[in-house]
Amino acid sequence: MVRVRFAPSPTGYLHIGNARTALFNYLFARKNKGHFILRIEDTDTERSKKEYEIALIEDLKWMGLDWDEGPDIGGGFGPYRQMERLKIYRDVAEKLLKEGKAYRCYCSREEIEERNIKAGKNASAGYDNRCRTLTEKERGKYETEGRRPVLRFVVPEKDITVNDIIRGKVVFESKHLPDFVIMKSDGLPTFHFAVVVDDYLMKITHVIRGEDHLSNTPKHILLFEALDAPIPQFAHMSMTLGPDKTRLSKRHGATSVRAYREEGYLPDAFFNYISLLGWGTTESQDIFAKEELIEKFSLERCQKSSAVFDPEKLLWMNGYYIRKVSAERLLTLSLPFLKDAGLIKDTLSEEEKKYIEKSILLEQEKIKLLKDVPYHIGFFIKDPVYEEDAVNKYLGEEGKKVLSELFVVLERCDYWTVSSLEEKVRKFCEENNYKPSVVFHPLRVAMSGKTKGPGLFEMLEHLGKEKVISRLRRWI
Ligand code: GLU
Repeated sequence: MVRVRFAPSPTGYLHIGNARTALFNYLFARKNKGHFILRIEDTDTERSKKEYEIALIEDLKWMGLDWDEGPDIGGGFGPYRQMERLKIYRDVAEKLLKEGKAYRCYCSREEIEERNIKAGKNASAGYDNRCRTLTEKERGKYETEGRRPVLRFVVPEKDITVNDIIRGKVVFESKHLPDFVIMKSDGLPTFHFAVVVDDYLMKITHVIRGEDHLSNTPKHILLFEALDAPIPQFAHMSMTLGPDKTRLSKRHGATSVRAYREEGYLPDAFFNYISLLGWGTTESQDIFAKEELIEKFSLERCQKSSAVFDPEKLLWMNGYYIRKVSAERLLTLSLPFLKDAGLIKDTLSEEEKKYIEKSILLEQEKIKLLKDVPYHIGFFIKDPVYEEDAVNKYLGEEGKKVLSELFVVLERCDYWTVSSLEEKVRKFCEENNYKPSVVFHPLRVAMSGKTKGPGLFEMLEHLGKEKVISRLRRWI
């Protein structure tokens, strides 16, 4: 069975690049009816924070991902947080030590650098494998000095070939690879060691991750071999760049999933857009429903060249999804934004829900981000915020005069529907020799506080007679 994992370090909010790694693992697992596993790599104890783990899980769920095994739900191969697996790493390290595949190294960084310089190399040239051949006596001396050793892996001298699903065959020489640390002196595993032990014991079949990890893969393969473990298939995805073709970073604006979520992107739009970062079908299609992505996804169609994250296209796609989504779902998605804006309470009656749903429906075409919903429909719920320019332009003496005449007509109108309102207002224009715009603009501004919005008569109908009359009163 296919078993893949997403293995984030909880040192910050979920980044777009990592979200894509998670998504591709998810799509691959679902397509192959395998397991998608969430593993938290929290051995960087200084930078890892519980709150980031919580946020990661929230954001992954928001994107529409779910997993079969993970720290929050457990599973048959746990624990799923590396800090809860320390005994496992220590036991495996002990085994490598016994088999002579690892050794204790007592050198300090300074000593290593000094020797490198003496040997005419760069200070940071790497380790010279000195402790590989320590005698019992030398070892004993270091121990009595109270030095706390690290554990280094004995790197065999051979070429390593990575058969990468996306990149093809990549050959690395291990001749120049120094014996690297697998357990630190504080008893924590290094990243390389923990990843391999976990992938092995969690029976991971495919390692799908960013290209930045390709150079780590030879080390990982050597470790798998030393453990007599099956070597998973590797697929290293291209990096994600910003629109200016440099690596996606804060300079490009929001880079965390959370920021996009808070801006009011739809999870479905986000899911769809992220799936296109470095993957695509031959037909250059760009709108995909989740089920379709699962069906069509393949690692073979992931591109080798970098993917470019284009916020403009994401925004466009979001607008597309907002126009397409059902009014009911749009309401559900908009509620947190309306709450934040102080427009609604925590609980709504069915009637209130219906009213807000219709308000959103009238503006659905114009909404690009959920964050903008309060701006678009706020006036339906609370007194409008009157925009100064709009008031100056349309609610001067002339506008007010027109509205006071119209007031009489509307107050008498009992049949409050779009068509009868339109008929009455148009008739009023004709009888008084007003161009429609002379009446429509002031009316719109008096109702909504602004010059743009839904169809005028749809707006009047939906506001209802009571609100319309009371808003007119304010201006006459
Ligand atoms: N924890 C690693 C990272 O955040 C993931 C390593 C891997 O996928 O092998 O990049």
